[in-house]
Amino acid sequence: MLRLPRPALLLCYLLLLLLTAAACQHWIYQDLRAQAASQSNNLAAFLRYSIGRHATLPAKLGQSPLLQQWLAQSDITALNQYLAELQQSAGVADLYLVGNDGLVLASSNSLETTSYVGRDFGFRPYVQAALAGNSGFYYALGHTSGMRGVYYSAPLRQDATNLASAVLAVLVAKVDLEPLELQQQQIAGLKGSHFIVTGQSNEIFLSDVPEWRLTKLDNAALSSSEQPRYLTKAITPLGQTERRALLTPWQQLWQMPLGDNRQNYLAQSQQLSEFGWQLTVLTPATDAYQQLSAALLLTTLLFVILLLGWRLQRERQKRTAQLELHARQLEQRVIARTADLAASNQQLVAQIQQREQTETALAQTEQELVQAAKLATIGSLSASLNHELNQPLTALSSYSQTTVKMLDKAMYSEAKQNLHAMQQLIARLSNIVAQFKDFSRKSAGKNQPVDVNKLVLDAVGLVHHQCQRQGVKVRLQLPEAPPQVLGDPIQLEQVLVNLLTNALQAMQQQTDAALAVAVKTTDGQVQILLKDQGPGIEPHHLERIFEAFFTTKQRDGLGLGLSISQRIIQSFAGKLEVRNHPQGGAEFCVTLPLLPMEAC
Ligand code: ADP
Repeated sequence: MLRLPRPALLLCYLLLLLLTAAACQHWIYQDLRAQAASQSNNLAAFLRYSIGRHATLPAKLGQSPLLQQWLAQSDITALNQYLAELQQSAGVADLYLVGNDGLVLASSNSLETTSYVGRDFGFRPYVQAALAGNSGFYYALGHTSGMRGVYYSAPLRQDATNLASAVLAVLVAKVDLEPLELQQQQIAGLKGSHFIVTGQSNEIFLSDVPEWRLTKLDNAALSSSEQPRYLTKAITPLGQTERRALLTPWQQLWQMPLGDNRQNYLAQSQQLSEFGWQLTVLTPATDAYQQLSAALLLTTLLFVILLLGWRLQRERQKRTAQLELHARQLEQRVIARTADLAASNQQLVAQIQQREQTETALAQTEQELVQAAKLATIGSLSASLNHELNQPLTALSSYSQTTVKMLDKAMYSEAKQNLHAMQQLIARLSNIVAQFKDFSRKSAGKNQPVDVNKLVLDAVGLVHHQCQRQGVKVRLQLPEAPPQVLGDPIQLEQVLVNLLTNALQAMQQQTDAALAVAVKTTDGQVQILLKDQGPGIEPHHLERIFEAFFTTKQRDGLGLGLSISQRIIQSFAGKLEVRNHPQGGAEFCVTLPLLPMEAC
């Protein structure tokens, strides 16, 4: 977009003003010139008519036989009267008859004090021309009146019909010009314009402005041939100058003094060749300035409107460009942000996958830890298991030997009894193995209703041989209606076996010890309480025994049993707590939500 600096804008404005002013002035001046041309034509016609209509008067008068007659009779009175009558009817200023000697013989003003009769006008060119047999025309100041006038003359011949006959006298008609100057205003419709009629030497002979009359347009002195027109009057320069119009230098302006000022005029001239004059109409150029200022005001207004429009358009384009830029930037930002988000998303997906993998690995590890803890429990029970298995095996061996001997002695009924006892022993062995097999198998990870009484009995059954080995009595207190909880029976059994094993280990040094296992139901909860008669737990260990790998057992302990048990119980929305019983020994309490009967 084009952006103009302020000085350039100002320059444009000034240039526009100048061009407008020049064009406007040119048109105005052209209009004024056309007006002046029309005025000039009107005025020329007026002058031609007013002056020229008397041109033939002397010649026509010369045809009159009366004049010749009165001249021949030297009847001057009749002549004077006749000329006075004719002067009145023709409307000329004076009408007179000049003799061959140049003296005025008769005149229309003979009765006036300014009478020409007897005066010598022989020096006047129009008299000389007529005496030479020609018609005469002359403009000049009146010799007697001092008034400006036009003189028409014609010879009065002896024989009016014969141009070769002798000239007896000269007839002269004088047309007064000053009344015309007064009349021309209305006739020519000059309206503020002025006019000048200049003669052969640029002298102003006629004008509607009195101070311009009988002055010269140029500074040259009047020639000796022209000076006689004005008698002894000095024709001084008017001080007119010419200059080019300021904005339209191809237009010439005349500067004329008027009163105390100088005025600028547009001059429109035409020749009045029949009089040897030049008519110039002068139209004031000052009027044009008012129209010019109006045009300039209008141009300024137009320029301001254009400028505002241009600015508005520019602002609009700028704003559109800015909006487009913002939209582009926004789009790019959105693209970048979307890319960022996509990257973050990918990162999140990767993190989630990693987390899932970690969780899977953790779950696996947890499973393995549970299994390890389980195996550790089995390990701790292995001695009693060993004993438990060895005893029936020893009995089986002894039974089998005695049975062989009985068969040898054909003691079939005793052998049968032995075989029956052996069957029971084998059943017991498989029962023991099955119990441990169940305990050691991995959990299926599915929750199901679990009979708490059965759970306790199974767990106690697993440690039964250990109890027997240590001589520990197990006191069971189970409710008649077996409570149910929701959980994994294998994992719950693992928790109880772990708690029982810990209790038995704590009572290893005791003799005649007892282990109380009670199941209670309260407020929608089931509590399994295990109370031993061991040394209890050191108070400063109470807070730590549920930590993983916390153990006080030098060789056998992994320190995982309680921490895993607590997690298992918590996963079934329960809790595992411990306290030292006031009567000695440790008491563990497993609390689980009671499964409503209708859900079982
Ligand atoms: P471990 O049996 O391998 O040591 P546990 O997590 O099962 O691991 O037990 C942590 C510790 O808690 C035991 O080392 C023991 O000091 C203490 N403890 C657990 N049960 C009893 C209990 N019935 N009487 C006294 N101390 C116990």
